[in-house]
Amino acid sequence: MAENVMEEIVALCKRRGFVYPASEIYGGINGFWDYGPLGVQLKNNIRDSWWKTMVECPPIGPDGHPICIVGLDSSIIQNPKTWVASGHVGGFNDPMVDCRETKSRYRADHIKCAQVVQAKGEEKHDLGWLAVLEGDQMIVDFEKRAKKLVKKAGGGELITPEFDDFHLFMNMTPEIQQQVTGPDTKTPGTLTEPRMFNLMFESYAGAIQDESSKVYLRPETAQGIFLNFKNTVDTMRVKIPFGIAQIGKAFRNEVTPRNFIFRSREFEQMEMEWFCPPDDARQWYDFWKQQRMDWWLSLGIKKENLIFRDHDDDELAHYSKACVDVEYKYPFTAPGFGELEGIAHRGCFDLTQHKEHSKAKLEYFDQQRNERYIPHVIEPAGGLTRGLLVLLCEAYTIDESRPSKVVMKFDPKMAPVKAGIFPLVNKDGMPEIAEKLYLELRSKYVCQFDSKQSIGKRYARMDEAGAPYCFTIDGQTKEDNTVTVRDRDTAEQSRISIDKVAGFLAEKIGK
Ligand code: ATP
Repeated sequence: MAENVMEEIVALCKRRGFVYPASEIYGGINGFWDYGPLGVQLKNNIRDSWWKTMVECPPIGPDGHPICIVGLDSSIIQNPKTWVASGHVGGFNDPMVDCRETKSRYRADHIKCAQVVQAKGEEKHDLGWLAVLEGDQMIVDFEKRAKKLVKKAGGGELITPEFDDFHLFMNMTPEIQQQVTGPDTKTPGTLTEPRMFNLMFESYAGAIQDESSKVYLRPETAQGIFLNFKNTVDTMRVKIPFGIAQIGKAFRNEVTPRNFIFRSREFEQMEMEWFCPPDDARQWYDFWKQQRMDWWLSLGIKKENLIFRDHDDDELAHYSKACVDVEYKYPFTAPGFGELEGIAHRGCFDLTQHKEHSKAKLEYFDQQRNERYIPHVIEPAGGLTRGLLVLLCEAYTIDESRPSKVVMKFDPKMAPVKAGIFPLVNKDGMPEIAEKLYLELRSKYVCQFDSKQSIGKRYARMDEAGAPYCFTIDGQTKEDNTVTVRDRDTAEQSRISIDKVAGFLAEKIGK
């Protein structure tokens, strides 16, 4: 069911111009997507809301005063030493496991194993180790395959392991690893030992392609911010605490891009580095944790579909003091949740690294405290394209009673199209009145003028595009200057004066 929903969302995205597979006419390219006319509009709406909330009108701080965050748009390609200092060269590796038989490749920290134990009366037999992918379905998947092994071994009962009985493949000895049956095979011993895999895309700057001209496409937008910390302090008269925010593309050569745009190789991030005195970092961490959740909720995501997940100590990077993810209930994780944004307390790690590698003076002199220190950093790092996926999943609503069978219930302020404007028929002066209304509205709202096909088909198209309102000019318009308003969510129709349409949208959508 949930998988079907995802397939339907992907199909709707293609059909209605939200998201297309990249290079489709050449057969596509795994892990890359193009954002069509409605997709880019929706993405820009999320981006603009983030920029407004972070940079143009940042929240009020815990002391009751507005905080200060400035914007940045740094280069995608930086001096490669950046990525040595940040730990991405050499460090940004995920240990991977290959299956020699099926040629599948898995992240080693996603493979868990448990023993298949067959019970026949008092007797118990160990039928070997079975690997499954970590996730909410882990035990269910295990049971399904293990039962077949038990049947093959003469029947009896399977003793289902508890959650704690599963071991991380990468923590097992090589001897045991060789006895494990991989997640999608029936033969033991096909999995390789975990191997490292660097996720950064490489290129060359300049005419000569050798080690000295090697550069990397940034795997995150955050480092560009640290590189400009000193520039910002020196030129912007900002005082700690303050933030620098940036939205932009990031690239990761993900081994297994999957789940539509959830994990792609080119994506967009919205990141902010909040620089503060070391003693205050914990308080700011709590502040940002709540602010970020509140912002996602403000986009119209239902509360029950979002959770916080605090990282366990053994999940934290060695320098990180705390980290929490905002997670969403995606159709492919439900009833579980998957990451949407991470909020990390990074201590002074990044600036210290850049200070050591570049020899630049990155300490901050705090006049109020009369001391010099490396600021600590709280980093809310969200996915813009992942956020777009969340809004698509959240909006997707099945309604068998409509011709379209589905309606995209975006929050009106996020909707890529705010209104459809239709002449009921293409005569009797209706197109002229409709066009006049369209011309009045289009400078403030993204509207679509549509005079083709039956009115039912036009409503259906707008339902799939998620336009919250449609205004239809009909025979009565000429008589009493009223138009029909159709509400996307209820499909109900009412009449309002044509002069009140702009005011109606202003009230419902804002602006
Ligand atoms: P994961 O563990 O899933 O690989 P991450 O924890 O490495 O992700 P971060 O480095 O914290 O991710 O990146 C911040 C945000 O960027 C994520 O919360 C996510 O929204 C987004 N993001 C990261 N990788 C991808 C990707 N491959 N495709 C789309 N969005 C991504």
